[in-house]
Amino acid sequence: MLNIVLFGPPGAGKGTQANRIKDHYSLVHLSTGDIFRFNITKATKLGLLAKSYMDKGELVPDEVTIKMLESEVIKHPNSSGFIFDGFPRTTNQAETLDKFLESKNISISKMVALDVPDEELIKRLLSRGKESGRADDQNKDIISNRIKVYKDQTAVLADYYRSQNKLASVNGVGAVDEITIRLYNAIDN
Ligand code: ADP
Repeated sequence: MLNIVLFGPPGAGKGTQANRIKDHYSLVHLSTGDIFRFNITKATKLGLLAKSYMDKGELVPDEVTIKMLESEVIKHPNSSGFIFDGFPRTTNQAETLDKFLESKNISISKMVALDVPDEELIKRLLSRGKESGRADDQNKDIISNRIKVYKDQTAVLADYYRSQNKLASVNGVGAVDEITIRLYNAIDN
């Protein structure tokens, strides 16, 4: 089984690359952001709750996010692996994910991280906001807060996976196809 954590700040290109990686390795793609947005469009209880945090650029509380993620994983008992996109985002999420996977006799194979400088992130997010209409991509203050939350709570996860010898970083600036190849190389190595 191949279980990948695709890591990087908001706007790093995780969604685009996760879609390619999923097809290339036949993985189930679990994007917590996409699942929250799906729940928002369906106006579920989870969606309403998530929206109140996402609109401010804050993280949705761990207990909610973890429960949701675990329920998605168990929907795919026969999968040949997962690509986690946007999860884990806190040390608590990473530790809980490890324990949860261990209880199913599986583990994270690798974390692949996309490195992109802040100025480039802000530029990409604002342009995505114009195209997609995503509310959290249209406001510079919300974007700045997401990057701050990433630095304060999420960036530390690189150390978490590095200490397990599972971290591979790639340059996330360049043509989309080039970056995909870098990621394949990082995963295959
Ligand atoms: P981006 O990485 O570009 O910010 P996402 O679609 O991954 O976009 O996430 C959008 C929002 O969804 C986040 O700002 C956060 O509010 C919420 N979210 C997504 N994943 C998580 C998570 N693992 N834990 C808590 N909140 C999350």
